[in-house]
Amino acid sequence: MLTAGVIAVQGDVAEHAAAVRRAAEAHGESVAVEEIRSAGTVPDCDLLLMPGGESTTISRLLEEESIDEEVRAFAAAGRPMLVTCAGLIVASRDANDDRVSELELLDVGVDRNAFGRQKDSFEAALDVRGLEAPFPAVFIRAPVIDAVGDAEVLAEVGGRPVAVRQDNVVGTAFHPELTDDSRLHGLAFFGDGDDG
Ligand code: GLN
Repeated sequence: MLTAGVIAVQGDVAEHAAAVRRAAEAHGESVAVEEIRSAGTVPDCDLLLMPGGESTTISRLLEEESIDEEVRAFAAAGRPMLVTCAGLIVASRDANDDRVSELELLDVGVDRNAFGRQKDSFEAALDVRGLEAPFPAVFIRAPVIDAVGDAEVLAEVGGRPVAVRQDNVVGTAFHPELTDDSRLHGLAFFGDGDDG
């Protein structure tokens, strides 16, 4: 039994918990999900999710609760992490916003809300490196990745990177938990996007 931590200071927690359970099942594993709102639990997790929400709020609460250092140590230990949307912004090297204290888990810079008002939310069938068929990606006030250092780009929209991997950390600008397709969670946590 694996322990999956979902950072739950703010954002979509239940959907990620369900997606990680489905991905585990497709790989013959089972997971116990821990919702993380305070320090002390992250070190006991085998895999970790940092969901979307509001990056400025998530960043502030991680610091206030002293979870930020635990997340850094988790990633540095090489354990698998998936960070989505606001989670990606907080995990980046440069959020281009003083209110966000970046965790610097991914060597990328991001532009918050870069898709602008008109395209506030949209869905795209996305070709993702490592997945055989396109992934139904839901974008909600999503960032784009506007600088890529040591990370590998996994997907792009209109030539702009929207998914990256750096070693054990996968980041997406979209919300992979909002459809019942759990291949992205499979890719991040179980090494491939098999859906069973
Ligand atoms: N726009 C949000 C931010 O900048 C992210 C949106 C999301 O996570 N869906 O933090």
